[in-house]
Amino acid sequence: MAIELQEHIRIDYIREEMLQVADIRLGILRLDEIHPQVSGNKWFKLKENIGRAKARGADTLLSFGGAFSNHLLATAAAAKANGLSAVGIVRGLHARDNPSVTLRECNQLGMQLVYVSKEEYQQKDDTGYNEVLQKKYPAAFIIPEGGNNEAGLQGVGAIAAYLPEDASLVTLAMGTGTTFAGIRAVLDNKTAMLGFPVMKGGSYLQQEVEKHITISQNNWRLNDQYHFGGFARYTDALLAFMNAFYQQHHIPLDFVYTGKMIYGILDRIRNKEIEAGSHIIAIHTGGLQGNRSVGHLLSYS
Ligand SMILES: *Cc1c(COP(=O)(O)O)cnc(C)c1O
Repeated sequence: MAIELQEHIRIDYIREEMLQVADIRLGILRLDEIHPQVSGNKWFKLKENIGRAKARGADTLLSFGGAFSNHLLATAAAAKANGLSAVGIVRGLHARDNPSVTLRECNQLGMQLVYVSKEEYQQKDDTGYNEVLQKKYPAAFIIPEGGNNEAGLQGVGAIAAYLPEDASLVTLAMGTGTTFAGIRAVLDNKTAMLGFPVMKGGSYLQQEVEKHITISQNNWRLNDQYHFGGFARYTDALLAFMNAFYQQHHIPLDFVYTGKMIYGILDRIRNKEIEAGSHIIAIHTGGLQGNRSVGHLLSYS
């Protein structure tokens, strides 16, 4: 992909008395700094997809997303950087009348936005629907919502190379669990993984992850308590935490994914659920552009 990776993806270690007392190191892998629009795990998912699109001679990337989709914006920016056209199938006809900042930016990057009803959007993964889209856009390479296909799964595996050898625990926010599974599949099983689903009732992600890994890749678990009301929902406590975290550590978090994960891991440490001596790496998967819908409530973004 033509967009260049930051030469070094940094790990910022958090200095907090609570961590010292608990004898725990907590580092944050700053995938959010890769690129302002193609940030975090979406960069890794797209990289592999673009390689396949080019190999197939496609001239367009077509994908799916809602009004605040990190993935749709990343797709628009990545397509442009690679000299490809882009089509975004957007969930909900109402999104057209009052387009979000995210969608306007997709448009400015040259992405053609096609608004469909919620009912039609539900067919996004149906073979028949994809065949219809492929006929309509014959030179397009179709990427599923969130970049969650085989190529995306393989792409995120590359994140494992940025994790220190002696990390004992890696934590991630989970949407579909693709990133979690892709990393678990290649990371040495001696390093534990802890996932924080960001939606209510996220324990179903257990089975989703299991589909992509072997039985022996078993050193992982989920904690579904930190959803803060559901997907893209938030509470005053979450936003207050994110503001305080930024003021103290100068690391911005997003309210949909990484804010919940960092809140969760610090809470687990405070509750003495994490062993002394642990070396934790929390993966910052980016998504900061999504904060624009709550920007006035944050001291950054
Ligand atoms: C999409 C996204 C995730 C979730 O990734 P999955 O692979 O769907 O679990 C996590 N963090 C951010 C910032 C994202 O944009």
